[in-house]
Amino acid sequence: MSTEKRASDARATLFEAIDQRTDELIETVAELVRRPSELGHEALVQEYVAEHLRGTTNDVDVWDIDEAIKSEPNAGDSGVPFAGRPNVTGKIAGAGGGKSLILNGHIDVVSPEPVDQWTHDPWGAEIVGDKMFGRGAYDMKSGVAANLFLPRLLEDLGIRLKGDLTVHSVIEEECTGNGTLAASLRDTADAALVTESVGRRSPIGHLGVIWFRVAIQGRSAHAGWATQGVNAIVKAVPIIQALHQLDADLNLNVHPLYEGIDHPINLNIGVMRSGDWPSTVPGECEIRCRVSFFPDMSRDEMHRTIETTVMAACAGDPWLEAHPPVITYNGFDTNGCAIDAEDPFIRALENASLDGTDFPLDPQVGTAVNDMRYYIFRGVPSTCYGADGGNAHAVDEWLDLPSMPRLARTMAALLVDWCEVA
Ligand SMILES: [Zn+2]
Repeated sequence: MSTEKRASDARATLFEAIDQRTDELIETVAELVRRPSELGHEALVQEYVAEHLRGTTNDVDVWDIDEAIKSEPNAGDSGVPFAGRPNVTGKIAGAGGGKSLILNGHIDVVSPEPVDQWTHDPWGAEIVGDKMFGRGAYDMKSGVAANLFLPRLLEDLGIRLKGDLTVHSVIEEECTGNGTLAASLRDTADAALVTESVGRRSPIGHLGVIWFRVAIQGRSAHAGWATQGVNAIVKAVPIIQALHQLDADLNLNVHPLYEGIDHPINLNIGVMRSGDWPSTVPGECEIRCRVSFFPDMSRDEMHRTIETTVMAACAGDPWLEAHPPVITYNGFDTNGCAIDAEDPFIRALENASLDGTDFPLDPQVGTAVNDMRYYIFRGVPSTCYGADGGNAHAVDEWLDLPSMPRLARTMAALLVDWCEVA
């Protein structure tokens, strides 16, 4: 049988099986959603992932990340020890001769708070019409389910690929990227697909991102004699104004890749904590921020920019000059990445999207990070392709259920084309 015929037969068989087994794919998403997996509580869902993979292959590894990963370039620090919060790797050896592929997905989810604003149980995986509601249903247990489902289909249908297939189910995508960083250092391949919830807008690069904290010291006092204290909230005001100005300044010279995107760089002042009593002058104030930066800037340069900005805001204030704010980095601390839009892997995904769904792929640069960068840093071409949905990181997150077989079909076409059928 010709290679072309083998490929088209395999594609047709896989597409038919996807249509027949869509309920199973969706139930896999539901199983994942019903296992809450916020930072520090990933073990339960990873147990399910490992169990599912064991039904497909004998080569499944459940492994804790080494604390030493934090000293790697582009690592972050979530402050939570890695023990008991494993990554999971599953490998399906190919027959040889084809290109290898990694399928990556993160199982960590952000907090569902404020839970009382949800109209569905965030861990209920409730289905209404064409939507499944739940934290992580869209971002991205949808993609993890597809990463489990496709190898299972190949196994059940007896379709052997030439190239090796590796599944990475990782932690900490939402706060550091350490899960994929560690996985990318253990396994390499000819390409890596992150089935992140970006729909068909596959990123060909994304910005660098840093999380930082600014701790501002004051001096507490009774509000009746407030002038004896130093109000840390008031002292934070010029620093907040300076950071807000930095947000504007960072958008003045837009990197060519990001031209046409409205306000691509965002310095978000996400958390502010201070004070606990109306009649007490607050003695400390903490601001926590996320800032992005263009690929022509390094994390070290961005660190310096943050530090210079904060210190400049203190100039002329005797208290702040004598008690300089302390800046620490406690989460994402990574450069951005880019991949050539003409890269053979992007081309293969474009073809797979057309074969699988008739929808053209729309590659574009992204303003939010995802885990693809770690593979690119290692020289492995990578991008994302995922399900559709809405309200990621928001109340009533939902997954568009018809997009699941669409995702699976494109992945099937990619596997056949990239890894080739033996
Ligand atoms: Zn995600």
